[in-house]
This record gives sequence, C-alpha cells and structure tokens, in this order.
Amino acid sequence: AEMAVTRIGLSGLAVMGQFLALNIAEKGFPISVYNRTTSKVDETVQRAKVEGNLPVYGYHDPASFVNSIQKPRVVIMLVKAGAPVDQTIATLAAHLEQGDCIIDGGNEWYENTERREKAMEECGLLYLGMGVSGGEEGARNGPSLMPGGSFEAYKYIEDILLQVAAQVPDSGPCVTYIGKGGSRNFVKMVHNGIEYGDMQLIAEAYDVLKSVGKLTNSELQQITADIFSIKDDQGDGYLVDKVLDKTGMKGTGKWTVQQAAELSVAAPTIEVSLDSRFLSGLKDERVEAAKIFQGDFSSNLPVDKAQLIEDGMNIIKAKSMEKGWSLNLGELARIWKGGCIIRAIFLDCIKKAYDRNADLANLLVDPEFAQEIMDRQAAWRRVVCLAINNGVSTPGMSASLAYLLTSKTRTSYVFVC
Ligand code: NAP
Repeated sequence: AEMAVTRIGLSGLAVMGQFLALNIAEKGFPISVYNRTTSKVDETVQRAKVEGNLPVYGYHDPASFVNSIQKPRVVIMLVKAGAPVDQTIATLAAHLEQGDCIIDGGNEWYENTERREKAMEECGLLYLGMGVSGGEEGARNGPSLMPGGSFEAYKYIEDILLQVAAQVPDSGPCVTYIGKGGSRNFVKMVHNGIEYGDMQLIAEAYDVLKSVGKLTNSELQQITADIFSIKDDQGDGYLVDKVLDKTGMKGTGKWTVQQAAELSVAAPTIEVSLDSRFLSGLKDERVEAAKIFQGDFSSNLPVDKAQLIEDGMNIIKAKSMEKGWSLNLGELARIWKGGCIIRAIFLDCIKKAYDRNADLANLLVDPEFAQEIMDRQAAWRRVVCLAINNGVSTPGMSASLAYLLTSKTRTSYVFVC
C-alpha cells in the first residue's frame, strides 16, 4: 500500500474545487486531488506549483487518491449536484474504510443529502454537507462555510475549516457547525435566495439612480462602488454599460421560493427577485415590448439628486433587513460577514438582535430594527413613488415595502370566497 501523505482529499476540480484545494494547501494542509477527467488533476497540480509550490498531490485513479490520505480519511466533493454526487460517492466509497468521511461541498437539495447520509451510515462511513459561499473568489481566498451533518466528522477537520474560511476582524472565521440532517443545505439554499434579493435591490437602486436621477457613472462611483469607474478594456466607454441585461439561474433561488410557499412564509423580495430573473431571461420579448410601449413614462417631476442619493442608500440598508425574515440564527449573520456576496455591516445588528432574543418572531419587531425602519420608511416610500412615477420598475423595493406596510396594519383586508 502507498504511504499516506496528506491531511485531506478533494474530488471534483472544476472552478470551485480547484480554488478550494489551493486555498487549503496554502494554509499549510497537504491535500490530495482527484477529478473524473484527469487533465484537470494535472492542471490543478501545475497551478499549485506556479502559485508557490503549494502541497497539492494529484492522482489519476480513485484508489491511489483515497490511499494517499491519512486516516480517518476526509474527502471533500465539489461536483455538480444530483446524479454526479451519487456517482462520485460510489467511486470513492469503494475504497474508503469504516470511520472515513465524505463531505459534499456542492449546492445540493437537502433531501438528497439526508438520503445519502443514511446510506453512508449503513456502510460505517460519515457524511457531512457543507455550503461553500462566495463563488470562486471566496473558495480561493476565504469562503463562508456552512458545514453540518455528522458532528464527529466536523471535528476531524474543524482546524482546517477555521483557517480556510474568510476571516473577519473582531468576529472570527466565517464558519460554524450548522446542525444535523439536511439543515446545512437548507441554510445554504436560503442564503442563496437572500443573495437573489440582495442583488435585485442593488440593481433597482442602480436603475433609479441612473434612469430617474440621471447620475453619471462617475457620480455613481463616488456614492457607491468602484465598479462604475472601470473602463471597458476592449472598446470605448465603461464596462458597466456593456453588461448584458439578461440573467440565468441554477435553481437555489427557485427552491427557496418553493420552500417559502410550502412553509407558508411570506418572502416577497426573494419571490420578485426570482420573477425578475425569469423576465430578465426573456430579452427578446422585452425588446419587442419596448417597441410597442414607446410613450413617455416619466412624470417630469423635479428630482432632487442629493435627496435621491440619500434615499437610495438608505433603502439598500433598510430593506436588506428582510434577509433575516426566515432565519433565527445570529451565528449565521456572523459567518456571512465575510467570503460571501451577502457580507454587510448590518449583519452585526442581526446577530445582536438574536442575541437579545433568540425567539424573535421577526426582525422587524426588534427595537433597534424597528427604529432603523422608522427612520427610513418615509424615504423608502418616496423612492418607490418616484420610480413608479417615472416608469421605472422596482419590484423588489415595492414588494418589501408592501410587506412592511402590511405588517404594521392592524386590520388586514383579504377577500375570501
Ligand atoms: P460544476 O460545473 O457544478 O461541476 C463540474 C464538476 O463536476 C467537474 O469536476 C466534473 O468532472 C464533475 N462531474 C460532473 N458530472 C460528473 C459525474 N457524473 N461523475 C463525476 N464527476 C462529475 O462545478 P463548480 O461550478 O465548480 O461547482 C461545484 C459545486 O459547487 C456545485 O454543486 C455548485 O452548485 C457549487 N457552488 C458553485 C459556486 C460557483 O460560483 N461556481 C458557488 C458555490 C457553490 P469532469 O471534469 O470530469 O466533467
């Protein structure tokens, strides 16, 4: 038998797998890597060499890959969700021994994880699911990690995860043991749904500032993000104006909305974000509709630019609060502070709200949140009116506002036949 050399293994070397393997190796943990298509193994080993002789060991067959890992063995899978995960488990399990562990790092449907955990248990193997947030950049430089399942297996690699995760000053590494069963997949799924809402609101704020406020890219850059100052390196003008207004999706947002409906939980911002992606995908139909609806949709109301900027920024802050609606875990707010797309200062406020009251029914009723909302709701309503008066679509802002206004209504009018 070959000598065990590495601390951990990783199978599945597409973008996420490659970057996570390099990150783990860079933190000083020797890692074995394997991929069905073996050219990606060589590619990964080559990159590890170029990036400073990182301890990445490549294998072209699953047996020597598994045997190169110290016992009890831990293998992270980063392959496409669904059948590829089952196939990879079968390949690996044939060579694993009692007490070894497989970790699924993909975006898997939580019931699949629960089914696999049970099957693995019957073979004496441990199984862990782990949400990895932050895309390629996160995987390489520090993701937000959401592991759950076998606590024993989590303990095998806790030291690695604590170093590999994003590090946020004063708040620690962005990783925590989430819980038993499929909870980690569920949490990661909802986390992705929140990202949908987050990005929708940012897009709407941009649209209002640009289309109603008539802000230039350099004005946008001063008040928001550096992206607005980046020029197109392949042509004239700014990069941001060249982005195609059409998006796709991989499924976690849709699952979140389906689950919200299953659970009878109102999640309007995430729902309209999903609808907006459906509409965004219909670029050709929108081009046709734009030809028909050519009238002037603007109200010609005078616009106070300074007021609008202030309002726009306030809205992003205030409405982002929705993100906690269906989660009651202050610890999650902490681990989302780094690595992932959600990262935001107000996550600290969410954590504090849940520290004050772990059973909080709704973030809106936390005294600090309620105050923040009260301070901003007038501006929020002004911006939604302004957008609608000028024919600009703000479904996320409007739906969130409707949620707030309904929540504060003592008498709710719903016709029931
Ligand atoms: P991906 O495109 O989802 O999957 C490609 C990988 O799956 C390749 O290694 C491929 O191997 C392997 N694969 C596909 N079918 C297989 C099969 N039947 N048997 C064995 N291996 C198979 O890769 P990714 O974008 O890096 O994502 C990996 C996981 O992380 C996914 O679950 C994804 O949802 C999740 N994730 C992705 C991101 C992101 O930003 N991309 C962010 C967070 C989480 P071959 O090379 O042999 O085809």
